[in-house]
Order: sequence, then C-alpha cells, then structure tokens
Amino acid sequence: MAKKRFGIMGGTFDPIHLGHLVIANEVLNIYNMDKIIFIPAGNPPFKNITGASSFDRYLMTIIATMANNNFEVSDIEIKNKEKSYTINTVKELIKIYDDTEFYFITGMDAIIDLPKWQEPQELLKHLKFIAVNRPGVCDQDALNKIEEIREIFDGKIEILKVPMLQISSTDIRDRIKNNKSIKYLVSESVEQYIIKNNLYTV
Ligand code: ATP
Ligand code: MG
Repeated sequence: MAKKRFGIMGGTFDPIHLGHLVIANEVLNIYNMDKIIFIPAGNPPFKNITGASSFDRYLMTIIATMANNNFEVSDIEIKNKEKSYTINTVKELIKIYDDTEFYFITGMDAIIDLPKWQEPQELLKHLKFIAVNRPGVCDQDALNKIEEIREIFDGKIEILKVPMLQISSTDIRDRIKNNKSIKYLVSESVEQYIIKNNLYTV
C-alpha cells in the first residue's frame, strides 16, 4: 500500500490568516496529500508571544480550518510547557503515524532560518520541506540560501509557487491596535473570535 502523505504547517498563528490557509490548500492539492496538520506553537524558541494566549491561537486555528475535511489541528505543541522544537514534534508524529511521509510547509522567510533551528540535519532526515514564495522576501536571495542549506545539511527542500498574499499576523495585530479593518485577511469566524475576546487591542 502506498504511504500516506501528510503536510505539517507549523506557526504561531497569532492569528491564523488567509495566507496560511491558501498555502496549506495549495500544498494539499498539488502534492495530493492525505491531510495537512496545523500545529500552533506553544512556546516558540525564537519568538516572545505578546499577542494571544496559546489557547486562543489554538481555538482560532480550529475555527479557521473547521470546514476543510483534510485540515487537522494538533495540540501537541501548545500542551507542552517546555519550549517546542520542531524536531521533537516531528519525532512524536512519526511515533503516532507509521507508514507516512511528512512534508513540512514554510514560507521563504521561515526556511532561510532553518540553520538556526534545533538539529536541522536530523530534521531533514525525517521529512522534506516545501518552501513557498512570500511577498517581501527576495526570491533570488532566498533561493541561494536554500541551495546552501540543501548542501550543508544534505536535505530535500522543494520550492512551490503559490498565489502571493501580502498578509502577515504582525500586520493584522497592528491593524487591530490602530482600529483598522482586518476583514478578508482572516476568516469571518476568526474575525468574530478576535472581536468577541478583545484580542490584540493593547
Ligand atoms: P508573524 O508576522 O507573527 O511572524 P506570520 O504571518 O509570519 O506571523 P507565522 O505564524 O509566523 O505567520 O507563519 C507560519 C508559517 O506560514 C511560516 O512558515 C510563514 O513563512 C508562513 N506564512 C505566513 N504568512 C504567509 C504568506 N502570506 N505567504 C506565504 N507564507 C506565509
Ligand atoms: Mg512569521
């Protein structure tokens, strides 16, 4: 029997926006994956979360992905009180799902930071990366860097062109602070959740 193929979308999702959903859906369809697992980060090593709690970020991720049968959300990182490193998360997933090929999905901004992650070489032994283009990241610089990473760590990183959406969680948080609209940048349900729970106003 053919192996299953799962995409992993890691992120802080603070909040989850349409950029995240579009890239996950592109990968799902183009790579013919069985599912995409969204994994909100609990306590990310490189980021101080000043925005929403991990509980709110997790719930918003569930709400945003609810209507897609091939999208799933994992609490594996948010329920972990320690700092969450992708390598540990991936090892956990491998234990849970056997006979599965994993693909880790990132934007070009995130993939070029891979050398700073915990055990990149080990990580690349367990999965392939799919890096998608992102507005604001210079393609040529990123491609050079990716080639370097491939050589240093002897790993597989594929590039996928997706429709470019100039949306970031940072911009969404700024807009809310400045009383500007976030309509059509996040799903309606996420917008309602943010308003109802008064998130990102300070
Ligand atoms: P922040 O501004 O807080 O860093 P973000 O919009 O970058 O938020 P993250 O949760 O950091 O969102 O991103 C999770 C993953 O999704 C990363 O791999 C990131 O590169 C990718 N990503 C986020 N937004 C986009 C986008 N608009 N286009 C392509 N990739 C994206
Ligand atoms: Mg980011």
